[in-house]
Amino acid sequence: MNKEKFSDLLLKWYEENKRTLPWRRTKNPYFIWVSEIMLQQTRVTAVQPYYETFIVRFPTIQSLADADEQELLKYWQGLGFYRRAHNMQKSAKIICSEFGSIFPSTYEELLTLPGIGNYTAAAISSIAFEQKHAVLDGNVMRIVARLFSVEENILQTTTQNKLSKHLMSIFPDVRYGDFNQGMMELGSLVCLPQNPHCEMCPVQSFCVAYQKNLQSKIPLRKSKTKVRKIKRYLFIIEWDKKYLLTKRPEKGLLANFWEFPGVEAQTLQDAKSKLHQLIPSDFSKPRFLFSYQHVFSHRIWQNRVYHVHLQEPLDDFSFFYRDELQNVALPTAFKKVREYILKQ
Ligand code: SF4
Repeated sequence: MNKEKFSDLLLKWYEENKRTLPWRRTKNPYFIWVSEIMLQQTRVTAVQPYYETFIVRFPTIQSLADADEQELLKYWQGLGFYRRAHNMQKSAKIICSEFGSIFPSTYEELLTLPGIGNYTAAAISSIAFEQKHAVLDGNVMRIVARLFSVEENILQTTTQNKLSKHLMSIFPDVRYGDFNQGMMELGSLVCLPQNPHCEMCPVQSFCVAYQKNLQSKIPLRKSKTKVRKIKRYLFIIEWDKKYLLTKRPEKGLLANFWEFPGVEAQTLQDAKSKLHQLIPSDFSKPRFLFSYQHVFSHRIWQNRVYHVHLQEPLDDFSFFYRDELQNVALPTAFKKVREYILKQ
């Protein structure tokens, strides 16, 4: 494959077709980092409004490092995968204390920061600092697998290593950031997972899968990970027109967020005794309200929601009035419960 010809065609197409996105107007590595972290597992259209409000509220690394955690989570609320926000703040603190508040410029330094893996380090170092690092995200893997007609499972490391070598064989000697962005844009607009628009593809003449009519079969994706369904009971606990929220553990899923108290259990009886261990009160007459499920990447919460009216006040727990609930940073997993209360 002639790599100069390939990158000429790709870069020309990118210049003429790239979407106008706010993070493409800047070379500020902090802004590019924010966009790259938000774009992990989240679509461009969903990220755009979050990105714009986030960088207005946290315009510098220092402002992010100094942010109140609950306020930060509020700005992330709805984007999901909240560990990203926690890691960003940890990284911002490290950059302030160990890098003199100057964003690290090398791929190796970027990899030392929490939440930055090979893909994000390659994206930031190439886009903000024009360093020669190729981005191999899901979009790019799909394109390369099709270009070289790689028919193995792309979730396997051996296949990904093979794709990485193929990518380096077409990676140019100039304009690394634009090339990476061009490939990602091609994956978002043309070389789609299903029904790629091969008729308008700028690199169609290089594509072996297209020549063999295999583009709908490549890439092959066989996952071993099973989605786990978890049965849970969730309680709206009310006292004097106020609602009880508890804090989630400091580590793990939705770490440190407020939540409506909930437990994993097979029966209501089990759930009540588990709840009693957390909150010492009388939960003898819970009233069933509704069920809903919330899907995470590898698990599904099947929540049954009950209402409990406390018979006596509880000390040392946090209660919120209805109006106050709107301002609490609650993860999307509890949105339906909050909406239910606000409608009452
Ligand atoms: Fe993807 Fe089709 Fe272009 Fe091949 S020709 S890279 S399958 S869009």
